[in-house]
Amino acid sequence: MTLEYDGVRITYLEHDSFLIEWGDLKLYTDPFKLPRGLPKADVITITHEHFDHLSPDDLGKVATPETDIVASENCRGKIKVGKPRYLRVGESTEVRGIKIEAVPAYNVNKFKSPGVPFHPRDYGGVGFLMAMGKTTIYHAGDTDRIPLMKQLRGRIDIALLPASGTYVMTPEEAADAALDIMPKIAIPMHWGAIVAGKEEAERFKRLLEGRIRVEVLEKKR
Ligand SMILES: [Zn+2]
Repeated sequence: MTLEYDGVRITYLEHDSFLIEWGDLKLYTDPFKLPRGLPKADVITITHEHFDHLSPDDLGKVATPETDIVASENCRGKIKVGKPRYLRVGESTEVRGIKIEAVPAYNVNKFKSPGVPFHPRDYGGVGFLMAMGKTTIYHAGDTDRIPLMKQLRGRIDIALLPASGTYVMTPEEAADAALDIMPKIAIPMHWGAIVAGKEEAERFKRLLEGRIRVEVLEKKR
């Protein structure tokens, strides 16, 4: 299912993977478990180096030697296709007319062992702000609810937010994050592939009913 908003088309593929089309331009986020037959990528963004975000197999399905890849610093040396460049938090770049800024993404209360978060603040993973014309999309990456989100208030048209729990925000935390951000549209992600299912995505939507427009997108198969 594809959402159209102000000249931008967003198709949910899987987990944190979206196909975002702006005119003829095709951008993929965190390609993972992609279906076959997708068009080639002009741009790919990758938020961090975990296998379900940086997947060489899936990069191979959509990347060409000409594909511009914008990835987090902790992906450096691990991307063998396309034309990669790497961003740390606070850095930005412009690629094919899209302004892309790397923003913080980290856990505050999700731990793999006592005191060790799945996504530590200093490990080099990021979220991305992507400005396509006058539309700004926030792809949050793997994160908990963090102070950044209040700073984004009023700046975001479409927020792609993880809402599965376990490694990232729960539906309740993601709803609070959405209320911090107040995007025009919020889309839950990070469900159905590794943890959680559509129930969590629908719960996120219910929690925001009457306050923020939420679109639970069917995955393209
Ligand atoms: Zn991760």
